[in-house]
Amino acid sequence: VGELKDTAGKPRHEVARPAVKAGSLEVRDLDMAYGELQVLRKIRLKVEPGTVTCVIGPSGSGKSTLLRCLNRLVEPKAGDVLLDGESILAMKPETLRRRIGMVFQHFNLFPNHTAIENVMLALTKIKGMAGSKARRLAEARLSEVGLAARAEYRPSRLSGGQQQRVAIARALAMDPEVILFDEVTSALDPELVKGVLNLMADLGRRGMTMIVVTHEMAFARKVADQVAFMDEGRIVEVGPPAEIFDRPKSPRLKQFLAEVL
Ligand code: ADP
Ligand code: MG
Repeated sequence: VGELKDTAGKPRHEVARPAVKAGSLEVRDLDMAYGELQVLRKIRLKVEPGTVTCVIGPSGSGKSTLLRCLNRLVEPKAGDVLLDGESILAMKPETLRRRIGMVFQHFNLFPNHTAIENVMLALTKIKGMAGSKARRLAEARLSEVGLAARAEYRPSRLSGGQQQRVAIARALAMDPEVILFDEVTSALDPELVKGVLNLMADLGRRGMTMIVVTHEMAFARKVADQVAFMDEGRIVEVGPPAEIFDRPKSPRLKQFLAEVL
């Protein structure tokens, strides 16, 4: 915990940034339903500390619902999720949201607050941090995502990519053990996607534990330690990217890859 991971051979001065915490997650036979609609079926997944797990699969397969269960935006029907060995179902939601951060497709920033206020609000409201300390930390997090110069801008004056960086800075500011990303580049103009993906890859290299739902197969192949393929509420296959992309076993994954690659 708290150590910088190997950083792909870059000179250290280029990568020296605040260390991240790295938590483990274990999903145990998770079931979830919206009314009669069974959406997750016995999901099992192990996420080692400091690793990147990419979740791929067709629309409607339950990827977002899985992430939402992991920080209890929805409650699972059965099963459990262990964060560093501790059941998240026994935690207070505020504690859980502090320990597991989430970044969404549509950023979910407060439109009437500046970039730095958006980051600070998480700290003052959820962590109960004093304003001056929160501001210093928010400044540090914004410069980490390359947005120091935009701190006083409102979201409407930022590009989609910049807004998404603010959302990532906000998640980082909580000093979480795990960050969940739900299709965070899907709403971005194509030319802005790469910058956000690079930021996420960098975060992964620094040892952040991340679960990333994505359609960016090149990102998954390059950055993921493991890739989970979901279909109809199940994890159909999970393994290292080379196995999932080059040696898919199930017909459903083969078909999915033929459609997206
Ligand atoms: P994915 O993220 O893989 O596209 P979702 O987790 O969003 O899949 O959705 C899984 C299934 O749950 C879909 O059939 C979807 O229509 C349904 N669903 C998602 N959210 C809700 C909701 N709030 N109420 C009812 N059904 C939902
Ligand atoms: Mg989704």
